[in-house]
Amino acid sequence: MPPAATPSASAGAVDPPATAVAPARETDLQKLVNEAHLKFRALTEGANADYIPELARIPSELYGVAIVTVDGRAYVAGDVEYAFSIQSVSKPFTAALVMQQRGAEALQKQIGVEPTGFPFNAIEAIALQPQRSGNPLVNAGAIAAVSMVEAPDAEAKYRLIEGWYGDFAGQKLTMLSEIYKSEAATNRGNRAIAALLAKYGRIYADPVESVDVYTRQCAIGVNARQLAVMGATLANGGVNPLTGKRVLDSTHVPKLLAIMTMAGFYDESGLWAYRAGLPAKTGVGGGIVAVVPGRMAIVGFSPRLNQAGNSIRATRAIEYIAGELGVSVFGAGR
Ligand code: GLU
Repeated sequence: MPPAATPSASAGAVDPPATAVAPARETDLQKLVNEAHLKFRALTEGANADYIPELARIPSELYGVAIVTVDGRAYVAGDVEYAFSIQSVSKPFTAALVMQQRGAEALQKQIGVEPTGFPFNAIEAIALQPQRSGNPLVNAGAIAAVSMVEAPDAEAKYRLIEGWYGDFAGQKLTMLSEIYKSEAATNRGNRAIAALLAKYGRIYADPVESVDVYTRQCAIGVNARQLAVMGATLANGGVNPLTGKRVLDSTHVPKLLAIMTMAGFYDESGLWAYRAGLPAKTGVGGGIVAVVPGRMAIVGFSPRLNQAGNSIRATRAIEYIAGELGVSVFGAGR
């Protein structure tokens, strides 16, 4: 792992002395990751998502846990090299691109930042909410976010998004085409969402094209280790800790993390804030990234989901690590 190429993350003036960052010593973090992996490995509750037929075929036993710190160190256990589809974990990163291109106010005004309390793909939420699209982490808001990305055409827009995610990961990421084809053939609900947004004037490019680019972005492959680097870039104020590249303006990061805290865990976001207290985003591919601002990202990946769409083993693993470290953004409570 290359050292951090930027002094901003690890160096000096703003960081507390090393001892105050306890207990995130190397051996402790590796031990915690190992423990979290071992503790929840035997859990077999839940099931792969199957409304995207290809997701039902992913081996359910896969399970990986990863931490990447803001100084670029990685601590991993289990299936951390398996590329799964990013699915809704893509959503905050596209929201970040909209913020970067158009500003935080445009995101708030044209999409919204309120949690919906509805399932992520709820069509009825659009009719009931004043802002229609809710926030960029539910399907309606995420499709609207794609529509707001500035690019000359749909292909260029997809390429821009793919490259943008790659900047967060510090590596080139590519689409898993079988997943894309499978979802594109079955995503009538998302097409209905886009059509309804158009009715209310809350989508800003062609609805059919916007759903297609959104479906492609959801099919981008990422492994747990890469996803942890993406999260660590947010933890690090928008600078990738491996490449040293500033990806996102630091002013956007707290706002994005606020949306993730309020809406990142589907309609279990309240429960997640209560139990783990971390900004996070989950996806039906089984990946979850949680961000500890200024410290690290914690990632879990395992395909079996609960009713809300959250990976059961990944949720438990991150919650365990966050609890042991006492890193809730609301305080450690001790
Ligand atoms: N592509 C998926 C959909 O639109 C993403 C869902 C998710 O991960 O929450 O249904």
